[in-house]
Amino acid sequence: MKDYLVKTITKDNQFRAYAITAKETVNTAQKDHNTLSASSAALGRSIVASTLLASSLDKSGAIISTKINGGGPVGSIIVDSDSKGHVKGYIQNPQVHLPLNDHHKIDVGKAVGINGFLQVTKMLKGMEPTNSSVPLTSGEIGDDFTFYLAQSEQIPSAVGVSVFVNDDNTIGAAGGYFIQVLPGASDESITKLEERLRSLPMLSELLLADQTPEAILELIFGSDNLKVLEQIPVEFYCDCSKKQFGDDLTGLPIDQLETMLNEDHGVSVTCNFCESHYEYSEDELKEIIEIAKSKAND
Ligand SMILES: [Zn+2]
Repeated sequence: MKDYLVKTITKDNQFRAYAITAKETVNTAQKDHNTLSASSAALGRSIVASTLLASSLDKSGAIISTKINGGGPVGSIIVDSDSKGHVKGYIQNPQVHLPLNDHHKIDVGKAVGINGFLQVTKMLKGMEPTNSSVPLTSGEIGDDFTFYLAQSEQIPSAVGVSVFVNDDNTIGAAGGYFIQVLPGASDESITKLEERLRSLPMLSELLLADQTPEAILELIFGSDNLKVLEQIPVEFYCDCSKKQFGDDLTGLPIDQLETMLNEDHGVSVTCNFCESHYEYSEDELKEIIEIAKSKAND
């Protein structure tokens, strides 16, 4: 099954519901960053949650950047997602592996920690970026996004995310859902939803059994109760380029660039998001220094 996200609304207009399968996307992140289990799960869940959140913006060109740092062994997690299913991310300490928790699951809460914040930066087309952050509640990511939505966006919601890591460190399954309670929802419907979510089989089991995002939402809301609004493909996608990093280099202090030229005879830059390497030769550095100098004289 290819990675994709589905957007639905219940036929009674009480809930918006999104679900995603993202195994290949998280697999790409695992391979690019060579992550071990706890880091894979923490980064993977963040990728899933951030992509669900970005898709709910419904604005073309919208980008969400999330930063999570709870003081745990994995350090910071950075994920950028747009509303078209493109996502990229990295984790400060990719090689964290921890003993399983009491539920025989990867201990994401411990790996991430709770002494810190989930910060969300929204970049909507033609508008200044906006920032908001909330303290982490469990470090398990799903709960933390639910808390963020309630606190910062005043959106009552339920976010469920899951990543299953195989013994050989490949990703067995990844996905999740995001349910948004709409203003017209009745207390009775909300109670019923909470009951359904409690009785839902483990998300990792559903994903491992190749249940589609639509099937997972149908388990929650019942079949024939959902209207599918849109399906979008999801992929790990980094838009970095040699030109873009070259432009960034022109912003460095000129003495620093001259050291790179005279002592190192070139420079190599690595993209944090996708680990691509870009090499700049002496001649290219000379050109970069010329541009930097003309900028400094502006
Ligand atoms: Zn990149």
